Amino acid sequence: MIISEIIKLIKESDNIIILSHTAPDGDSLGSSLALYNSITSIGKEAEIVIDDEVPVIYRFLKSADKISCVDTIDKFDLVIVLDSSEIARIGKSSKYLTGKNIINIDHHISNTNFGTLNMVRPNAAATAEIVYQIIKKMNIKIDKEIAQCLYVGIVTDTGKFQYNNTTFETHQIASELLKYGVDSAEIFRLIYQNITKAKIKLIGHAINYMEFYCDEKISVIVLTKEQFYKSGAKDEDTEGIIDFARDINTVELALLFRESKDGNIKISFRSKDNINVNLFAGEFGGGGHKSAAGATVSGDILTVKKNVIDKAFGLFR
Ligand code: 5GP
Ligand code: MN
Repeated sequence: MIISEIIKLIKESDNIIILSHTAPDGDSLGSSLALYNSITSIGKEAEIVIDDEVPVIYRFLKSADKISCVDTIDKFDLVIVLDSSEIARIGKSSKYLTGKNIINIDHHISNTNFGTLNMVRPNAAATAEIVYQIIKKMNIKIDKEIAQCLYVGIVTDTGKFQYNNTTFETHQIASELLKYGVDSAEIFRLIYQNITKAKIKLIGHAINYMEFYCDEKISVIVLTKEQFYKSGAKDEDTEGIIDFARDINTVELALLFRESKDGNIKISFRSKDNINVNLFAGEFGGGGHKSAAGATVSGDILTVKKNVIDKAFGLFR
């Protein structure tokens, strides 16, 4: 079984680097920190390296302050990559993969199985669910802090247990995490009742200038550099904004285009029942899940937007 092989390889390794995707989110951070806190508790040397800053709302998680940026001393005998569908998602820290054993743990249906060992479970709601199974099987003691990391991964990737990736197993794991001491109301307050005024200004713009196409089945939000500047919001503040566009009753496909600080255009795709945005995002070099996907492209934001909307019309023919 792959899980036994993964555990064996972790046990045989002494210096472990944990990598995850750029623009970290609740699941990439929650699963990375849960694994980090677990393996260091059994005496492993480990480090988490992520290309971008940790969003402020996730900094309460245990060891979040130990996450480093790309430049670190390369002394590792094992790389564990979490929540990343392909090597390009890891950004510059993919340089640590060269010549190493790679464990790839993920739940994206579009995962390219780039690891030496691959544990890819598209039915898992979050990578945190898979990490939970691994540390449980390793008989590692799950304390409140580790449980909090896992709980955050599950809560954020299921949209607070509302998306169709939420299964009885998701609730079962969440319930066990509460037994380990997680205070769910505290977690919800720290993540969802903790947003900045700058983000609210950005949301205001997003809602006021939302566009609709195709009999209001397509909704579109555009966030330019100017909007970030005017509101004072950061890249990380875009998380969740597309939900306003998706949640409208007529909408079947929501799109968000933003100019990210690295100069690329980030596209977010969300759908309800029928449209597979993993496949649609694939047309632009991206991917993700059936109802939530993303892509990163270069070019002028309005040209990119027009191109994507033109193609999106084809989904409704
Ligand atoms: P978001 O729209 O919240 O950034 O991402 C939604 C989903 O799409 C996530 O599961 C994420 O992993 C995936 N995703 C986001 N951006 C990209 C990207 O640039 N490339 C690929 N392949 N997937 C992405
Ligand atoms: Mn995830």
